Amino acid sequence: LRMAIMISGGAGYIGSHTVRYFLDKNEDVIVVDNLQTGHRQSLAIEHLYQIDLRDKKELDKIFRVHNVEAVIHFAANSLVSESMEKPFEYYHNNVYGLMCLLDVMKDNDVKKIVFSSTAATYGEPKNIPIIEEDDTNPTNTYGETKLAMEKMMKWFDQGYDIKYVSLRYFNAAGAHESGNIGEEHDPETHLIPLILQVPLGQREKIFMFGDDYSTEDGTCVRDYIHVMDLASAHYLALEYLRGNNPSEVFNLGNGNGYSVKQVIDVARQVTNNPIPAEVKERRAGDPAILIASSEKAKDMLGWEPQFNSLEKIINDAWRWHKNNPEGYS
Ligand code: UDP
Repeated sequence: LRMAIMISGGAGYIGSHTVRYFLDKNEDVIVVDNLQTGHRQSLAIEHLYQIDLRDKKELDKIFRVHNVEAVIHFAANSLVSESMEKPFEYYHNNVYGLMCLLDVMKDNDVKKIVFSSTAATYGEPKNIPIIEEDDTNPTNTYGETKLAMEKMMKWFDQGYDIKYVSLRYFNAAGAHESGNIGEEHDPETHLIPLILQVPLGQREKIFMFGDDYSTEDGTCVRDYIHVMDLASAHYLALEYLRGNNPSEVFNLGNGNGYSVKQVIDVARQVTNNPIPAEVKERRAGDPAILIASSEKAKDMLGWEPQFNSLEKIINDAWRWHKNNPEGYS
């Protein structure tokens, strides 16, 4: 029996792009998603199981039907501001959800997991670019749950020999080149899709949250990474675990920072639209600059991001939004 890769949260933004990438690599993929934020229409495959990971009985059934080699684990709540208002939900879905998943993996002798982590595990950085050895002091519940999940996997590795790769993403952006899958959140809070709502005629202007940060133009600087480059990193992480390597943590970013103003400028060029922008007060909890060093992933996984230019990232996002102004619905 061919071994399957289980992708939890495979109907979400980064998950659906990773599913596409793995299918193109001829992997046998099954998706487990409770569809709380995911989109059924983002998947071209029939192998979607609508299951919540905390439902261990149902999850166990899937592991018994399929010969699961490894899990790529995306399923989680991931909004910073929401996490501050609903810590119970974040601990329950993220931390307890992983606990259930690992328990079922243990029972079924599945020994490999690739995990969606985040730059939010670091908190306010002391040094730029951020390296994996830097201190982790999350400033929000979301980041704290992801850090707790990394630590849980560390102890499950010790106790049950389940090997993990944790991928700490910086700012995921862009879409598959086909333009038929992309980013859709409700509510939308991310900079690039919000900017693109202006040329789509869905909003009048974009608000820039603060222009008095100690950066070159005063607006926050982020490291935007193309979602298909994240997808390829997950594949390389799986290959790394297939090589019987020890558990590891890697940053994934493109190493270049772009300010909010720069992002808006590039979007103006790409969409050929003036995109009015207005300065508003700072958003709580925003560090001035987040830029990753991804040297470790390049060295150890052989990762080579293909789509580093912000033009390419925004152009692909724009193609998706133009083709699907209402998203998947
Ligand atoms: N941002 C902004 N206006 C918006 C949304 C976001 O100025 O309408 C800024 C935000 O303050 C941050 C950057 O854009 O500095 C990226 O925000 P996003 O929410 O996309 O990602 P985050 O860095 O919070 O993960």
